[in-house]
Amino acid sequence: MADGPIGGSTRTTCPYCGVGCGVLATPTGPDSALIDGDPQHPANFGRLCSKGSALGETLGRGGRLLTPYVDGERANWDVALDRVASGFAEAIRNHGPDSVAFYLSGQLLTEDYYVANKLMKGFIGSANVDTNSRLCMASAVVGHKRAFGTDTVPCTYEDLEKCDLLVLCGSNLAWCHPVLYQRIVAEKERRPELEIIVIDPRRTASCDLASQHLALAPGSDVALYLGLFKHLQDRGCTDTSFVSQHTQGLAAVSDAAKDYSIEKVAKLTKIDPQSLAQFYEVVAKTSRTVTVFSMGVNQASDGCDRVNAIINTHLLTGRIGKPGAAPFSMTGQPNAMGGREVGGLANQLAAHMDFDPSSVDRVGRFWNAPRVATAPGLKAVDMFEAVKNGSIKAIWIMGTNPVVSMPDADRVRAALEACPLTVVSDIVPNTDTARCADVLLPATGWGEKDGTVTNSERRLSRQKAFLPAPGLARHDWWQMVELAKRLGFGEAFSFEKPADIFKEHAELTAFENGGSRDLDLGGLAGLSDGSYDHLHPVQWPITEEGQQTERFFADGQFYTDNKKARFIAPQPPQQPAEAGPFVLNTGRIRDQWHTMTRTARAARLNQHIAEPFVDIHPDDARALGLKDAELATLRNERGEIVVRACLTDRQARGQVFVPMHWTGDLSSRGRVDSLVAPAPDPFSGQPALKSSTVTIEPTNPSWYGFAVGLAFETPRTLYWAKAPAARGMRMELADAERPADWAELARDLLGVEADAQVTEQNSGDGRSYRAAFFRSGRVVGVFLAGPRPIAAARDWLADQLGTLSVDGDRWSLLAGFPGEGVTDPGPTICSCMGVGRNTLLDAMRDGADTLNKLGACTGAGTNCGSCRPEIRKLMEEIHVPA
Ligand code: SF4
Repeated sequence: MADGPIGGSTRTTCPYCGVGCGVLATPTGPDSALIDGDPQHPANFGRLCSKGSALGETLGRGGRLLTPYVDGERANWDVALDRVASGFAEAIRNHGPDSVAFYLSGQLLTEDYYVANKLMKGFIGSANVDTNSRLCMASAVVGHKRAFGTDTVPCTYEDLEKCDLLVLCGSNLAWCHPVLYQRIVAEKERRPELEIIVIDPRRTASCDLASQHLALAPGSDVALYLGLFKHLQDRGCTDTSFVSQHTQGLAAVSDAAKDYSIEKVAKLTKIDPQSLAQFYEVVAKTSRTVTVFSMGVNQASDGCDRVNAIINTHLLTGRIGKPGAAPFSMTGQPNAMGGREVGGLANQLAAHMDFDPSSVDRVGRFWNAPRVATAPGLKAVDMFEAVKNGSIKAIWIMGTNPVVSMPDADRVRAALEACPLTVVSDIVPNTDTARCADVLLPATGWGEKDGTVTNSERRLSRQKAFLPAPGLARHDWWQMVELAKRLGFGEAFSFEKPADIFKEHAELTAFENGGSRDLDLGGLAGLSDGSYDHLHPVQWPITEEGQQTERFFADGQFYTDNKKARFIAPQPPQQPAEAGPFVLNTGRIRDQWHTMTRTARAARLNQHIAEPFVDIHPDDARALGLKDAELATLRNERGEIVVRACLTDRQARGQVFVPMHWTGDLSSRGRVDSLVAPAPDPFSGQPALKSSTVTIEPTNPSWYGFAVGLAFETPRTLYWAKAPAARGMRMELADAERPADWAELARDLLGVEADAQVTEQNSGDGRSYRAAFFRSGRVVGVFLAGPRPIAAARDWLADQLGTLSVDGDRWSLLAGFPGEGVTDPGPTICSCMGVGRNTLLDAMRDGADTLNKLGACTGAGTNCGSCRPEIRKLMEEIHVPA
């Protein structure tokens, strides 16, 4: 079980998605490291995706928060923590324990989560601990608990390779869990008969491998699965022995499903009856079926019912607890599972125990806690509403950015600004949430922290420090311990290092367990500090006796009172209640992570997609008078955003997609969650982040601009979006009015001194202006503006920053494209190897007619493989046989 560093490298875990890939980090300085995939980690076997590969480029002290701040002034830790403690103590004294709250993050380590949860639920006496994982998979938790009696992920990643049918439901694995997707790609190459079906309103990159794509109407998931349930029953696929011995509640679901004929489902889902029949039949005849589901299922106001509708079909057919057969919830974040394990959700107590009297008593005795919370606390949406209405007086937000990521995000900002005490701990000072903080605390980040995370297949891995903490940054668990001491609970929080916390957590999972609870880490409770340090990735459960269970429910025993799984009859399917011509879907893109505080630091991750956009069907755009690359204004009663229009038939008519990532720091009006309705699922509290409604219209600015520079002043234009480039920054711009003086605007934006050399071109009528600025012959900035969206070789322009320029080159800079004899690689498609569209097209014209040949001559697609669907599409576009 123990494992150690290879040479000078440290074994650690990627801080991004729920795949939980192992990473080898080799420090090259006090704040830099080389990054490789860990060939021994069982999640990735050495592979990393574009985000993981670029981790080394996200390190460094630039832009870090290095000292505490109180009311905007630098402070030392004692002053800052005293202020936090006095604010929390005053609120508790005057208004009770429910007047305070912690809002945590799936980025935190299990040890951070454990201390926060123990402090709030055991000692402060409130259950107001919630997490951004609420936005990600809370409906899966409820679905599991309703069906299995506990929050259990039944299977492992290997089951995705062992199945004969893989259904990806509401899950764009190719972009959101790329390394796991590449495992499936490899299995499909090895075993072409492996069938893959994608259920998603959008034609995502994950459709690349699929034999069928079912573009269901938003909100019709339950209808689709009720229809499947009926079909499986009608076709005699019920595993009668499994159902009678190991399940309960079949009749209610049979009754709910009985009217869902293919014709009825076709009407509700807007999928043609033949495609539906084909899908249903493939599922009917394939015993080894795995259904992967993630945010497309969970982020809905009927998310729990969707989850149970999927699980129902697996229970009916006995396709659970067997190799290659299971429902599988993929988590979005690196430690969403660890948070669930310690009780980081407001409706869980600790260690997969709830608020029933015996669990409250057991946890209270284990913690020797004076006032264990006896009822669930406020879930995220309600928590911020309580901040808004003043019933929460003090909130501590750790490692997350709710002013960008929560629905109705502007209301969340207003709530935090008005809260008597808002505490934020983070690694950077400039997040939209950090700007609301009364007390801002510097946290350690990836590479500086030490602890454990759990991935989607229940596998614990170590995240380890390989760099020193910068400035006064401190670990999140340490900050919580210091608050506990100041509130008078020092004895119960005498942790000195993460190993102390982990062992207590492991002990609690095993405490009075005896097989009654799924989560049991008893076998890890006695780890020495040394063996904790070198803990090899391990799946739970692992009991004190060393017993492990790779796959849950193989014996048909569940964690309900009578050990039988429960069929759950869903409520009749709903459609979005709000009026509005377009359904707004939100989600991730391939190369960015959450609110970009880390990934945006890596220039190459900004080259694939560098600004917020809206995917819209060409027919819809035409009807609106909106052209490709123009700006679009999306609006509803909550707010308004302005983003780039991307016309694509990946998107169904009447639906649009906007990425979740852009913040107020990186764009003027790209925070899409300011439009999202706070409509939570009634059971899980998970908000419906994929089904708000909006109107769309062309923004029609009077000018568009693009600029590259070594640094930028934030402009006051209607639209801007900035991104780091290899040698400086790049920025997209637009405004309603043309400036009186273009040159002045360009110089102010780029921070160019008056004596800098300039080559410029003005259209005469004032509609267009182009300028390149130089210092000592080197390019320090380029500014291009005109009445239409700017066509330019953006990556090439950014690469010219800092280079020596001769006269002929200067006109190329103004043109925005390289001159004759210089190749423009085009927009980046493969971020890992830095390969652009034009390079790929040239290689295709030279005869590279397969992905492998293209990889061999350009390098594209040879690292993580996430770009391969896009390359295949390019080949199709120019009619190169795949
Ligand atoms: Fe990190 Fe990519 Fe692996 Fe996810 S798939 S854990 S983002 S390397």
